[in-house]
Amino acid sequence: MAQELNATENKPVSNFIRTIIDKDLETNKYEGRVHTRFPPEPNGYLHIGHAKSICLNFGISIDYKGLCNLRFDDTNPVKEDVEYVDSIQEDVRWLGFDWDNRMYYASDYFDQLFEHAITLIKKGKAYVDDLTAEEIRQYRGTLKEPGKESPYRNRSVEENLQLFMDMKEGVYEDGSKVLRAKIDMASPNLNMRDPVVYRIKKAHHHRTGDKWCIYPMYDFTHCVSDSIETITHSLCTLEFEDHRPLYDWFLIELDLYRPQQIEFARLNLSYTVLSKRKLLQLVQEKHVSGWDDPRMPTISGIRRRGYTPESIRVFADKIGVAKADSVVDLALLESCIREDLNKSANRIMGVLDPLKVTITNFPDNETVWVDAVNNPEDETAGTRLVPFTKELYIEKEDFMENPPKKFFRLSPGTEVRLRYGFFITCNEVVKDENGEVIELKCSYDPASKGGNSPDGRKVKATLHWVSAEHAVPCKVRLYDNLFMVENPNKVEEGKTFLDNINPDSLSEITGFLEPSVKEGKVGSKYQFERLGYFAIDKDTTDETIVFNRTVTLKDTWKKIQNR
Ligand code: ATP
Ligand code: MG
Repeated sequence: MAQELNATENKPVSNFIRTIIDKDLETNKYEGRVHTRFPPEPNGYLHIGHAKSICLNFGISIDYKGLCNLRFDDTNPVKEDVEYVDSIQEDVRWLGFDWDNRMYYASDYFDQLFEHAITLIKKGKAYVDDLTAEEIRQYRGTLKEPGKESPYRNRSVEENLQLFMDMKEGVYEDGSKVLRAKIDMASPNLNMRDPVVYRIKKAHHHRTGDKWCIYPMYDFTHCVSDSIETITHSLCTLEFEDHRPLYDWFLIELDLYRPQQIEFARLNLSYTVLSKRKLLQLVQEKHVSGWDDPRMPTISGIRRRGYTPESIRVFADKIGVAKADSVVDLALLESCIREDLNKSANRIMGVLDPLKVTITNFPDNETVWVDAVNNPEDETAGTRLVPFTKELYIEKEDFMENPPKKFFRLSPGTEVRLRYGFFITCNEVVKDENGEVIELKCSYDPASKGGNSPDGRKVKATLHWVSAEHAVPCKVRLYDNLFMVENPNKVEEGKTFLDNINPDSLSEITGFLEPSVKEGKVGSKYQFERLGYFAIDKDTTDETIVFNRTVTLKDTWKKIQNR
C-alpha cells in the first residue's frame, strides 16, 4: 500500500500508542515487527467510530512499514450476516486501506480454539457447568461482594472432557451447559470470575455452516485469534482494559504467543449514536431508509451523503487518540469535509427557492453563453459555459421589497451582479392576488458581460441564478441532525434514544440547476454557489437527478474554536 494514502500526507502526529511502539522497536520486543489488525464483528455496518479504529490500525501499519489484518470476529452466528461481511470490506477499502491477502475470520480458528479448550480442561483450568445463565449471573457476585463457586466446579478432568465432547456432539440443548474457565470467583475483576469459554448454540454459521453447535465466547476467541495471527500491538477501546488480565491468563495457561494490548478512548460524536445495536434498531424500525441513509453515521451513510475518504482520514488525524473518554463536536467532522470539498468540488449554480426575474431589455429567444469558473481553488478545473436568457430564477431570499439598512441584495431600484452574467437593476415588482411577490422585472447592462463592471461602478452584492428555460429541476434532499440533542443516549426514565429523534431531519425540495449538472454521475460532488456542498444520490434516474446536501457552507467549527 502506498504511503501517500495515509491521512493528511504530513508527518503522522504522535500519540501515546506510537510512543509505546517506538519503545518496543527500540528494545526489539517483537524483532522489529509492527503488526496490527482491525477486528469487526460482522453484525452491522461500520460507522465513523470504526473509521477511527481503522485509520489508527492501518495508519500505524503503513507508517511503520508493518502489516494490518482485517479479521472478522464472527463468534455469534445468530447476529451475523454476509451482507455485513461484504459491506465492511467495501467500507475499509473505500477509506483507502488494503489488507492484501490478510483477511481472516475467527471462525477459521474454531478447530484450534476447540483444541485449546481441551487443553484447559486437561490442565484442570476449565470445567463444564450446568448452572443456567441466570444462576451464573447470580453466582458471579458484584463489585462489592465476591462470587460463589458453582457446585459443578470441581468435576474431574475425565468428566469434563466427556461432557464437553457431548456438548460438541449436540447431546445437550442450548443454554443447558457451558464450559467455564476455572480462575477465581473472588477476583476483584469480574471478568476473572470463571468466565464462560464455550456455549451451546444450535445455529447455522455463515461460514462454518452446521459443523459446530458450540461456539467460543468473544473473550476467548479474541485473544487467541490475535495470538495466532502474531499481532504485535492489539489496539482496542477502553472497555477492554478490564479484559486484559483474562486475555493474559488464557495465553499464559495455553503457553501461546502474547501480543501487547493497548486501550484507547472510543469516538463519541455529538448529536450522534454510535452503538451498533441502536443503529440496527433505527434501520429495523424504519426510522431511516437503511444503513446507508445519508443521515446515518455509518461509513456507507456518510459516503452516500457526499463525504470523501480523505476528509474522514483527516478527521481521524485531528481527533487523535487518547486514553480519556470525550465527545467530539459534530462540527469538526463537518469542517473536515467542507475543507476538502472546497478544494476539490466544482461549483455550479442552482436555485432552491426560485423567484422569477424577467430581463425586460433582453432580446426574446436569445441565449448568451457566459464563462463560469469551475473551481476558484483549482485552476486546472477550467471553466464551463452557462446560459443567460430573458427569464431567470434567483433565490427568493435574495430579494426584499422593503430592505433593512444592511440588506445589499436585490430590492426595488438597486443594482446587483448576477455571477458571471450581467449587472441587473430591479425596476418593478409583480405580485399575486395575495400580495406575494411572484416576479421581478429588471433591466440589464449589456456592457457588464461576465459580471464585470463596465465603468468602475460598484455593486454591493453578487447573486447566483439560473436560466428558467435551461434549468434542470432536481430533487434536493436537505438534512439536519438525526437527533435533536447533543447526547441522544442520555434519556429520562421511561424514554429511549428514539424520543430524541429530530422529526425534521430530512426535507426534500425541487431545486433548479444549471444544465451542466446533467454531466454529473452518481457520487459527483458540487458546491452549489452560496448554498453548500451537494452530491448526486444513487436514487437518481434517467428522468430525475437526486441530490444530497452534504454540508452547508457555514463553518460553525471555526466559530466554536474562536469562542
Ligand atoms: P459491538 O457492541 O457489536 O461489539 P463494536 O462497536 O465494539 O460493537 P466491533 O465490530 O466489535 O463493534 O468493533 C470493531 C473494532 O472497532 C473494535 O476494535 C472496536 O474497539 C472498534 N470500535 C468500535 N466502536 C468504536 C468507536 N466508537 N471508536 C473507536 N473505535 C471503535
Ligand atoms: Mg466489539
